[in-house]
Amino acid sequence: MKIKNNVSLRNLEPHTVLGLIICEGIAPQTCIGGEMTITSLHRLKGPGSLHPYGYAVDFVIEGATRKECVNILPVMRNKLGGEYDLIFHNAGTGWHFHLEYDPR
Ligand SMILES: [Zn+2]
Repeated sequence: MKIKNNVSLRNLEPHTVLGLIICEGIAPQTCIGGEMTITSLHRLKGPGSLHPYGYAVDFVIEGATRKECVNILPVMRNKLGGEYDLIFHNAGTGWHFHLEYDPR
């Protein structure tokens, strides 16, 4: 796992770290290498976003196709349990995973 140069770790919460560790264990199933790159953690964003509070993180899997990423989603969700949300979407910087700790 690596962190993109301009990413701020401010407010990073342990719940987010645990989610990243779980996802990292599965990422290599997408493609050879399958290294995760964190593209965004703390940032100021509109109401409702957990990014400012350290409970949300965006990442990509280097070398993985969109289809491979979509296919790995249920595998990751299954390991994350019920208190995380994980989506793969095209927003802002392009296609990426958005993981957040959001117990309800
Ligand atoms: Zn996000």
